[in-house]
Amino acid sequence: MATLVMKFGGTSVATLDRIRNVARHVKREVDAGYHVAVVVSAMSGKTNELVGWCKDASALHDMREYDAVVASGEQVTSGLLAIVLQNMGIAARSWQGWQIPIRTDDAHGSARIVGVDGTALTDHFVRLNEVAVIAGFQGIHEPTGRLATLGRGGSDTSAVAIAAAINAERCDIYTDVDGVYTTDPRIVPKAQRLEKVAFEEMLEMASMGAKVLQVRSVELAMVHRVPTYVRSSFDDPDSPQPGTLICGEEDILEQQIITGIAYSKDEAQITLRRVADKPGVAAAIFVPLADANINVDMIIQVVSDDTTATDITFTVPTADFDRAKTILEGIHDQIGYASLQGATDVVKVSAIGVGMRSHAGVAAKAFKALADKGINIRAITTSEIKFSVLIDQAYTELAVRTLHSLYGLDKP
Ligand code: ADP
Ligand code: ASP
Ligand code: MG
Repeated sequence: MATLVMKFGGTSVATLDRIRNVARHVKREVDAGYHVAVVVSAMSGKTNELVGWCKDASALHDMREYDAVVASGEQVTSGLLAIVLQNMGIAARSWQGWQIPIRTDDAHGSARIVGVDGTALTDHFVRLNEVAVIAGFQGIHEPTGRLATLGRGGSDTSAVAIAAAINAERCDIYTDVDGVYTTDPRIVPKAQRLEKVAFEEMLEMASMGAKVLQVRSVELAMVHRVPTYVRSSFDDPDSPQPGTLICGEEDILEQQIITGIAYSKDEAQITLRRVADKPGVAAAIFVPLADANINVDMIIQVVSDDTTATDITFTVPTADFDRAKTILEGIHDQIGYASLQGATDVVKVSAIGVGMRSHAGVAAKAFKALADKGINIRAITTSEIKFSVLIDQAYTELAVRTLHSLYGLDKP
């Protein structure tokens, strides 16, 4: 019998009524003859509440205990869905991450999956013909025996990792939108649903801020070639739509130059004015940040007229802004900059598409369009299939809409 993984996000399990609706989707697939592993998130808002409690308990807290607290939301929904399924006459059993086991490293709060053993799950399918209802977002660091969570949005990654481990026919990610759109449909009403998105594009879209899938889930889907669909849990369980397929580039016949626009407000800008323009300065700045596990993203270095000093601008995740500033202030004497300026009211807007590989001037068009709207660009980065601009946060919607129209993505 073929196996299927179905994942339901927070809004899809927000109330008991919605959990009952989820059970009807599961029943449909069981009736169609599949062995089903369901992965559930916590009820929407629950994880935020749990994170808030940890912060209130102590601003600086032990991340192993943070994990013990925040993983509890998924434990609740997995048990509830199992009860509802049983009540419908469907054999079902809940599973926590450690019971499978889903093995992780010990980066508590944003652990990586290092392996999933699908044997026990498969065995249960074959012997008991039970639906497995799995708590997403969590695993176990086996050397210490401690529970670990996979970072926000991590249930997507649980689902794809399980699909790979049990060799599922496909992984269906049910959410509150009916697929992946050309941009966040909540801010651009003219966004269009995509039939298919290439793994590489989805990876860039997720990395650049489209939170519809966690980045690591897309990495896993790409590496293990798991056919993954994003679809709506609000469809009628008896006549569901297929949603968007994340698949190999070769499976997409008509490729646009730009597939999607993403934005991320999780960026902070730091500018160091009048840094000495000599060898080793960039290393002196960026090595200590890397040692502190701070991810530097966009970097611009300007050569000043007198060529003895230069300005360096770069971005870090907002959460690391204060830490980065403290580190740079600590090495001030070593680097010798004149001043440090920072801004958190910035946003990174990105355009993504594999078609950029074979077309020139794609980004240049955007710079002109943004300038015409009076939007100042603070920094730019490009890679093979995307470019990003850093702008003032106040212009987020205008910039996203401008690029969305520019590349012909608006719904007719
Ligand atoms: P879940 O709780 O089901 O995991 P999320 O809130 O994590 O759901 O992700 C779904 C949300 O992602 C949508 O409601 C939508 O606002 C947002 N989103 C951002 N970019 C996109 C995009 N390109 N396509 C679809 N949804 C997107
Ligand atoms: N509940 C977790 C979160 O809100 C994991 C998830 O929903 O994917 O981040
Ligand atoms: Mg999510």
